Amino acid sequence: MSDQTNNYDVLVVGGGIAGEETALNLANIGYKIIMVEKDLSIGGKMIHLSKVFPTLDCSACITTPKVSETARHPNISIFTNSEVGEIEKISENNFTAILTQKPRYVTEDCTGCQLCEEACPVSVEDQFQYELVGRKAAYIPFSIANPRIAAIDIENCILCGLCEKVCPADCIDFTQEAIKTKINIKSVVMATGYQIFDPTIITRYGFGKFKNVVTAMQMERQLVPTRPFNAVLRPKDGKMPDNIAYVLCTGSRDDTVGNPICSQVCCMYSTKQAQLLMGALPMADVTIYYIHVRAFGKGFCEFYNQTVGMGVEYIKGKIGKIDEAENGDLIVRYEDIESGKVKEAKHDLVVLATGILANRDYQSMFKNIVLEPDKFNYVKQVNDLSSPSKTSIGGVFVAGTASGPMDIPDSILSAGAASAETASYLRRAYNEK
Ligand SMILES: Cc1cc2nc3c(=O)[nH]c(=O)nc-3n(C[C@H](O)[C@H](O)[C@H](O)COP(=O)(O)OP(=O)(O)OC[C@H]3O[C@@H](n4cnc5c(N)ncnc54)[C@H](O)[C@@H]3O)c2cc1C
Repeated sequence: MSDQTNNYDVLVVGGGIAGEETALNLANIGYKIIMVEKDLSIGGKMIHLSKVFPTLDCSACITTPKVSETARHPNISIFTNSEVGEIEKISENNFTAILTQKPRYVTEDCTGCQLCEEACPVSVEDQFQYELVGRKAAYIPFSIANPRIAAIDIENCILCGLCEKVCPADCIDFTQEAIKTKINIKSVVMATGYQIFDPTIITRYGFGKFKNVVTAMQMERQLVPTRPFNAVLRPKDGKMPDNIAYVLCTGSRDDTVGNPICSQVCCMYSTKQAQLLMGALPMADVTIYYIHVRAFGKGFCEFYNQTVGMGVEYIKGKIGKIDEAENGDLIVRYEDIESGKVKEAKHDLVVLATGILANRDYQSMFKNIVLEPDKFNYVKQVNDLSSPSKTSIGGVFVAGTASGPMDIPDSILSAGAASAETASYLRRAYNEK
């Protein structure tokens, strides 16, 4: 196995649950892994979630031990705030790639004390809280970030120098520049995950125009212990909602927005959120507008039945339009599929169950070779029935939602399959017995 600097057995692109699982499986059998994550912290989307369906276990409680194990593993080198490009196959079992570490403007000596954050006078939208609240230009991305090192958002920084003055460890360094390094690898695992559908595209739902129309990820953030507000609130006026609607299939199974497939998780995450809302707001009514409820996994149907039993109303209806009343309430106009009639209902908060889309970043990472997409733009599985982790390039594998929509347990299973295929490939590459 390789052991020289910049020589690794496996490049894992993406530090979400699928990337972590893949890296840990391979590192535990002795392979040397480089993990490249474009965000400031590893953890992926799972670290953003409240609880997980159908067990309602705390998402962060499951994922943070994996994040720490990945970060501490002696065989795993992690590069956050980094990108990888120009991946080139130079011979049968050898690739090279260019790693670019973007500057954080804060050195690794940072203790995570957040004094820079307190001193920073600039406030911008917080992407981790899905723009529900603001953050500073000098910031730690979130409380359980790994690494827990601050960063300066240079695009919004006004270079006032207050962070430098208060930093007790002298970590602020505005002279940092991007560092490019050439790496040698034997194999690659794409674990770049998914993107969330942008609901502003469906203008008739009013997202971006009506503040009380929010996305399911924004609701996830309102339901976590590290939530931006003390309670679930309407963004427009801070009122506690008491009549909440969910619109399933927002951006999924919809040819008009270019995503004809089912996102596989929205029915269940909406059902989960409905249960959590019944706990957070016991007097609130929750209505879920759906086309079909897909409760196909183990315990999912029971979870759905339990939610119906708790009083959540499921209406088989297609949403035509959402309008805003003067007081910020929302008028939902829908086709009641059972009766065939067009109806209207008033809700004080609407949650769009936004679907999962392919993250197409992988398409620009390779040089002189093409990692083929499938017809939905996910990484193509050359044989999705018999060898779902193999891609169009020998030695390049795929794990988790980079290959299609799936939930967390399936992402972990997919990472297991990708690790097994990669290990078997490496054994052949090294001619090991
Ligand atoms: C609102 C909502 C609620 C959900 N609730 C649940 C639930 O309760 N239970 C459940 O099982 N599932 C749930 N899911 C689905 C769950 O989020 C996914 O199954 C899981 O996160 C997939 O993990 P992943 O590692 O494949 O992808 P991701 O979590 O997307 O991780 C991919 C990682 O790759 C990184 N990356 C992307 N591009 C690059 C690049 N070019 N270079 C370097 N790094 C890159 C990303 O920054 C990210 O860290 C929910 C989804 C949504 C939208």
